[in-house]
Amino acid sequence: MKIAIVGAGISGATIVKTCINHKNFKKEDRIDVFEPREVLGVGLPYGHDDESIMLNVDPEVLSYDSSVPNDFVEWLHENYDEPYNFEGLVSRPKYGRYLAERFAPYFNHKQVAHHPYKVVDLNVLDAETKEPITDTKSGNYIYQLKTTKGWLDTFYDAVFLAIGHPPYADYYQLVGKENYIHNPYPMHEVLGHLTGDEKIGVIGSGATGIDLMRFLMTNYELKEPLTYYVPSGEIFNFPTIPLEKEEFQFTFSRDWIKAQMDSHKGMIPLDEMIKIFIEDIKQEGVDVKTVYNRYKADDLKAMRLALESNDQELALIHSYAAKLIAYLPDLFNTLSGEDQERYLNQYHKKLLFFKARVPNKTFKWLFELLDAGKVRLVEGISDVQLEENGTFTIRADQTKTADLLINATGFDTTIEHIAKDRPLIERLYHQKLILPHKQGRFVFVDWPQAQVINQRFGLMDNFFFTGILIGSTQHENNDAHLTMRQASYSANWFMDNQSV
Ligand SMILES: Cc1cc2nc3c(=O)[nH]c(=O)nc-3n(C[C@H](O)[C@H](O)[C@H](O)COP(=O)(O)OP(=O)(O)OC[C@H]3O[C@@H](n4cnc5c(N)ncnc54)[C@H](O)[C@@H]3O)c2cc1C
Repeated sequence: MKIAIVGAGISGATIVKTCINHKNFKKEDRIDVFEPREVLGVGLPYGHDDESIMLNVDPEVLSYDSSVPNDFVEWLHENYDEPYNFEGLVSRPKYGRYLAERFAPYFNHKQVAHHPYKVVDLNVLDAETKEPITDTKSGNYIYQLKTTKGWLDTFYDAVFLAIGHPPYADYYQLVGKENYIHNPYPMHEVLGHLTGDEKIGVIGSGATGIDLMRFLMTNYELKEPLTYYVPSGEIFNFPTIPLEKEEFQFTFSRDWIKAQMDSHKGMIPLDEMIKIFIEDIKQEGVDVKTVYNRYKADDLKAMRLALESNDQELALIHSYAAKLIAYLPDLFNTLSGEDQERYLNQYHKKLLFFKARVPNKTFKWLFELLDAGKVRLVEGISDVQLEENGTFTIRADQTKTADLLINATGFDTTIEHIAKDRPLIERLYHQKLILPHKQGRFVFVDWPQAQVINQRFGLMDNFFFTGILIGSTQHENNDAHLTMRQASYSANWFMDNQSV
């Protein structure tokens, strides 16, 4: 059996590890890994960078192996006297070093070969004739890959596309413009040449915006305030309020999901899930609606109030939402079609309000910077113009200028846009092998296997897709833990189906 794994971030690395460790992996089996990066197993977010770039979650949930959940924490203490910074966080480069070290034995396995090239095209062939399939839905497929070096002679029984992050969004058509930084990573390379004299603007204020604050404030004494430009009402994510007690009622579990699916003929009503959420929190004496109404303005005043009062009612909901993340993809996929729409239209934003957060001490630092005038927030961004002298004019509630503009708007998940930038996606989209799932965005896959589905071939046997681009199926999957879990599930499912 020959397996191709395209991309060796945490997704691809987890697939390699899962296949090798599986009882059905035979001596004659072979895995080819395609990854242009030198360091394997780290991908985009955890590569070499400045030590001020931090993880936004506790190391407790970031072990490379779910059977040894404390592994990362132990590794940190073995390797560093002080692994945590003053925000109580661990740096992403440290996590990268851990991942590279732990995954190295798998990439160095004698049945694994690393090809340091990008994959740019894929052919679907008939497993018997090895001819391209044109008009059949026989389901007996093998795959051939083209890298930047040309078509390979090898035919693969399975392909895992673990290609990870799409390009960043370009809302103001600034790509290629002088003094505009579209992708700020790795920050030590892209921003290491600054002097601190520049007037710096950042478009967006999500996780990348916070990374920029850390990097710039740690490494420079900026002469001008670091200015964030955001759409009206879309300011920073809410600060985390840490929960002081350790335990709370939490009903959701794999067993609960299974039992509910059995009693509701395979689908769990949304109202049932909402009822559990509200009742669990009520058991602890907290009313979700009251807490939501207290902070729903979602502005700096509400954020300051939450931080200053150290609101333990909000803290409980934050801790609950953090625990819920692990179950979100499965819960989402057990909803009926109508309930999925109702959830997306009425509840998703509210859930994000409790889920998407800035670490507590980071936000306190951000408030100090805002209060000292070192950081500034400008809402209502509507347009950006490049002036002849190379500076930018940013039209917003207050029109301002910047010498350097950095993009922190997040990823573009529209397949047609990605296809313009990524040759492999262009070829897969052109051949109608991948289909956009919703409103032109994300890749359509089955669940929970995550095999590609299209109208030409139906379900593509053993052609898997993992990572952020299956986010409309693996709901809210932009975190390391869920990425590894899905990669492990898909690879295990594939290996379970191989004869011993
Ligand atoms: C900046 C950033 C910070 C994050 N911080 C956190 C955090 O603190 N905590 C957390 O839980 N999650 C975080 N995440 C989210 C999460 O960890 C990532 O989504 C996860 O790392 C995704 O892993 P991946 O393997 O799917 O993708 P990637 O890490 O993107 O890896 C994909 C790999 O595929 C390769 N590749 C792409 N195309 C091809 C091709 N055609 N041929 C060959 N190789 C190819 C790329 O070179 C890359 O190495 C962060 C994400 C980002 C972007």
